[in-house]
Amino acid sequence: MNDMGPPRFATTRNATPVEAAQRDLLLADPGFGRVFTDHMVTIRYADGRGWHDATVTARGPISIDPACSVLHYAQEIFEGMKAYRTADGEPVLFRPDANARRFRASAERMAMAQLPEDLFIEAVERLVRIDADWIPAAGAGSLYLRPFMFASEVFLGVKPSSEYLFMVIASSVGGYFKGGKPAITLWASEDFTRAAPGGTGAAKCGGNYAASLLAQAQATQQGCDQVVFLDAVERKWVEELGGMNIFFVFDDGSVVTPPLGGTILPGITRDSIITLARDQGVDVREERYSIEQWRADATSGRLRECFACGTAAVVTPIGEVKTTGGGFTIGGAQAGELTMKLRARLTGIQAGTEPDPHGWLHRVARD
Ligand SMILES: *Cc1c(COP(=O)(O)O)cnc(C)c1O
Repeated sequence: MNDMGPPRFATTRNATPVEAAQRDLLLADPGFGRVFTDHMVTIRYADGRGWHDATVTARGPISIDPACSVLHYAQEIFEGMKAYRTADGEPVLFRPDANARRFRASAERMAMAQLPEDLFIEAVERLVRIDADWIPAAGAGSLYLRPFMFASEVFLGVKPSSEYLFMVIASSVGGYFKGGKPAITLWASEDFTRAAPGGTGAAKCGGNYAASLLAQAQATQQGCDQVVFLDAVERKWVEELGGMNIFFVFDDGSVVTPPLGGTILPGITRDSIITLARDQGVDVREERYSIEQWRADATSGRLRECFACGTAAVVTPIGEVKTTGGGFTIGGAQAGELTMKLRARLTGIQAGTEPDPHGWLHRVARD
């Protein structure tokens, strides 16, 4: 913690921002993660000094020493969240307090300095405010925010870093998956696992993604959109995708999702979907579900729908699963009814067109 109170932000506007006409062109078809805004936030941390040098500046490259410890030992965490433009044009965030809390939890697991939650939210709000013109119009996309932090001490010894750099960058995004299929296909990986008990599965750290890329490449090779991981111990319980949680919808209307317990990332979309489904009287159970049961229920028709969820892709129907032992389809490989209902409810809250009984929308005042 900082003994000197929270740092004040020094803001220097980008002297050569992207021109409005060029920005409009970029926003017409932004894709995912390749169109960036004009600014970024940085806050530094050092043991004994606390959080300091908070800035909002023109977005651009940063310079780091080759011995910067993150390059060697991967002490790095991140968040993924979105700013939306409501129908009245106002920028809003969705449950930023939950991202701030999870960021602290990830930092704790990775033995990193913990950024105070109000400072996290202020940093994100400042970037959204200064780059508000980069939020696509209501319904046309969103502004994906990427807060992240890495070990910045120049030292090759293996230990928690004594210095950290926290940053926030932003990227205008449209839809996440290309192709416009009604439902995606998953590859159930038997060769690789994502997280083991006692490991870092519940922390949002870059290392988890590094470890998942070969499995994802294998899924692509098999003609699948995403990989789905099984548990590392018994290799039978369905855990989650590389960056999304998973839900199963049964013919009695009930819903199952794998329980958190250290190996699954506690998704904020996951938590929101559980809450929204229960609001509608749906019986939601957080319990283990095996790949064999998945195959049997999909084949018998007991399993009606399946979907993945996360901030980037929101709610995505799953229509087919492939394994080395053969594949199976779910609900005729179409988007399920409850899946689409929950997606509409969630995106409606985010767009400000649906009631928000849990107070999840967070207004960001304009400059
Ligand atoms: C970020 C992430 C999710 C989804 O979390 P949300 O808060 O819903 O965006 C799910 N799984 C993994 C591995 C993730 O990194």
